[in-house]
Parts: sequence; C-alpha cells; structure tokens
Amino acid sequence: MPRRRPGALRAERLFRAGWALPPERIHGLSARTSTAVDRVERLSGDYYVHPGATDRALRRYRAFLQPPGRRPRYPQDAECSCRGCSFDDVRHARDVLAQVLRQLPPRPRAQLERQVRTLDARYLARTLPDPFAADRQWRFDLWWRRRLTG
Ligand SMILES: [Zn+2]
Repeated sequence: MPRRRPGALRAERLFRAGWALPPERIHGLSARTSTAVDRVERLSGDYYVHPGATDRALRRYRAFLQPPGRRPRYPQDAECSCRGCSFDDVRHARDVLAQVLRQLPPRPRAQLERQVRTLDARYLARTLPDPFAADRQWRFDLWWRRRLTG
C-alpha cells in the first residue's frame, strides 16, 4: 500500500465521521475538476476506480516518465492484481485514467485530458513500439499496451 499523506488520512477520518469535506485537490487540476473526479471515483462500480485512484494514476504516470535522458522506458507487469499493486504497471495507471476520462462530464474531462495528453506524448517518445503486441499483450487494442515491455 502507498504511504498516505497525513492530511489525506485526517480528511478521510473526518469524512467517515460524517463531515462533508471537499476532496483534496489533485495536482495540476482545478478544485472543480478534482471534485468531479472524486465523484466519478466514488460512484464508479469499477474495482480499480476508487477514491484517490486518479491522483495515484497521474503520479505513477509522471514517475514512470521522470528519469532524465533519452533511454527507452519499459512498462512492466505488476506482480499482484490488487488495486494497490496494479499501479506498479504504468499501463494500469493509463487504464484508470482512460476509465475516469470516459465517465467525467465534458469540462472536467477536457482539463484532465490535457494533462494526460502531455504525458501520453512523453510516453510515446520514451517507449518503443511492440510489433508483436497482438500476440503478447493483453488488451492490445489499447495503444499504450502496444509498447515493448521490460
Ligand atoms: Zn497486491
């Protein structure tokens, strides 16, 4: 499990105690978009789309692309499919973002989409195409899964 910021823990305790608190603002997104994301996460029936998942997905996607230089990066399978460990695979982070984008209303979607597109461009630049993805990859219909893995 990821380490939680103390503020997030306190907010969650208060929320459970019945205090209606606004969700924490997601880095790079407006308060309004963060609230829309929070709503999608709370109402989603998807096991992998849970409160905080979008924030985690964005952080994971950024971290994957963080190392400086031009060396290619290779996504790796996660060793466990639980909702925490799944983020070890950057492609899972992208799956979550796709899922949330689909469920957001137009304006917050456009804002999150801008962030994701910037990261997508870097992902495309830092990873290599896998010409045999159709034989090797699960859900190879998703472009971010048609890249060479480590
Ligand atoms: Zn796990």
